[in-house]
Formats: sequence, structure tokens, C-alpha cells
Amino acid sequence: MGLSERQRACLREMDIEVWERRMATAAAPATHPAGTRSASEPAAAAPVEGDHAARVAAMQWDELERAVRTCRRCPLHETRTQAVFGVGNRRAEWMIIGEAPGAEEDRQGEPFVGRAGQLLNAMLTAIGLKREEVYIANILKSRPPGNRDPRPEEEAACRDYLERQIRLVRPRIILAVGRIAAQNLMRVDTPIGKMRGRVYGYQELGTPVVVTYHPAYLLRAPLEKRKAWDDLLLAKSVCAETA
Ligand code: SF4
Repeated sequence: MGLSERQRACLREMDIEVWERRMATAAAPATHPAGTRSASEPAAAAPVEGDHAARVAAMQWDELERAVRTCRRCPLHETRTQAVFGVGNRRAEWMIIGEAPGAEEDRQGEPFVGRAGQLLNAMLTAIGLKREEVYIANILKSRPPGNRDPRPEEEAACRDYLERQIRLVRPRIILAVGRIAAQNLMRVDTPIGKMRGRVYGYQELGTPVVVTYHPAYLLRAPLEKRKAWDDLLLAKSVCAETA
């Protein structure tokens, strides 16, 4: 695979000096066929408030975005500047799912901006993707105060929106970015280190889900960028297999 100068620059930003076909020779991850679960992964829970779930499940993009922007289903609406719906190509092959808006996202109304967003952009560019080619969303649409972890009741209240986004986009691959996104999407409490290197299937859609570290964590732990690079290569190869 030939690399552009831009991709090489982004690889350097990720502390990746050379292109290596690591996944071709690495030990095979414990992979589940798309749409299957291991015995340790519980079945999806029933949606909270069936009426809301059914209404959201029938929404198209404009109505869905309006519903999120005016949502008051959990107390986070009281402290947010604005809801952060999601951004990008609504027919994307890649969907990137993170945790929740931080301070900058809350201000700008867009997920993954600021330094973590720049690193995510570099990670995408390194594998030949532009930010505008993918669709980016979060588990929670409103910022938890002080960037604390989302609470289970907040995740449950917000879940229908992301599920609808996933069904509308119907991506070929989902990259779950960070522990909370990964555990929430797959309804498991497995540590992120054990979720990496596997391919999960998203609910009955069976969309492949690959897990990697959050760019904000990678900024604090740059030595882990190498592992994130491996995760991206895994996702890329899985996406290619589904073509
Ligand atoms: S986090 Fe989700 S459920 Fe809570 S107010 Fe925001 S959009 Fe609504």
C-alpha cells in the first residue's frame, strides 16, 4: 500500500515511524463472527421506555436531530450548553463512536474536537480516511459536568438515539473509541484491554465492532499509540472483508 505524505505525517503524529503489516502476521485475535456473542457477553437489554424507543426507531435524520437537540430525558440537559448530535457522512462505511461530549465539544456542538479530535483525525488520515468521510457520534449527547463518567441511567436514557443513528448510517464497521463506548455498545463490563483485538457484532445487525483506546487517553499515554494503530489496521482489514 502506498502512503501519501499526509498519511506519513499523521503516522508520525501517532508515533508510528513505518508502515508495518502487523495484523497479517500477528497472532489471530479471539474473533467472533459478526453478530455472535461469547458466553460472557450478555444479551442486549430491553430498551428503556418502549414508547420512546419505538418513536425514535421510526425517526429519520431531521426529526432525530431535533429530538436530540431538545431532549430533556436526563438531568444532563440542565448543565449542557447544547446537545452534540453527531457529525459526518450519513452514509459512511466507518462509524466512530465515543463516550460523551467534553468541554470543547459542548461549546462547539461537534464530537471529537480539540486535541483529542485532532489526534482522531490523524489516526483516520493514517489509514487513508478523511474525517468528513466517516460518521462520528457519542454514547451520550450531552456533556456530563466536569467530564465525569456517564451514569448508567443517563446511558439508558440516551441509548435510543445512538441505536437509531447506527441503523440509519448502517456502517460497514464501527470503531468503538474508549472503554465506556465499547462497554456500552456491547453491553459488557470487560476491561478495554481484553476487548481490543476482537471483532464483536452489533446487536442483530451484526455490524462488526472493533475497540480501541480513546484519543484523550492516548494523549496521556503516548506509548499506547502503537496498540491503537494495530486496532485501526484490524478495523481496516475487517472493513475490507465486508466489501
Ligand atoms: S444525554 Fe441524552 S438523554 Fe440525556 S438530555 Fe442529553 S440527549 Fe437527552
